[in-house]
Amino acid sequence: MSDLRELYQEVILDHHKKPRNFRKQAGVAQVEGYNPFCGDRLTVYLKMDGEVIKDVSFEGSGCAISTASASMMTESLKGKTREEAEVIFKAFHDLLTNPAPAANNAAHLGKLAVFSGVREFPVRVKCATLAWHAFHAALDNKNKIVSTE
Ligand code: ZN
Repeated sequence: MSDLRELYQEVILDHHKKPRNFRKQAGVAQVEGYNPFCGDRLTVYLKMDGEVIKDVSFEGSGCAISTASASMMTESLKGKTREEAEVIFKAFHDLLTNPAPAANNAAHLGKLAVFSGVREFPVRVKCATLAWHAFHAALDNKNKIVSTE
């Protein structure tokens, strides 16, 4: 487990320092996510091409975990279909909230599996899932503000 913990810290710090797809998009679905427990505030921008995620990006400010999670989310979802994105969303949520996630979860998550360490810190789960809830609302074409509460 210590290897995973080290990897987890390394990957999260890297994405926190250099967030990927950190930019606005105009004229696309956008949802703001707010986590009052930590003060994380992120906006997710989603551009669909039919059923395919053409572009997904985010902006805002948050702690290392919320920023890294948003950054890695954009990398893993870009180019996926709506259906594939739903599977990844559920798998990620399961990873963080279910003490015994489904065995095939890892296959859906790839690098995102490093977030399994967050499960030990329930308060941090809200940080890690914030961008995902915003993304999910955007996927449903709900332009709105989502809160972790
Ligand atoms: Zn946070």
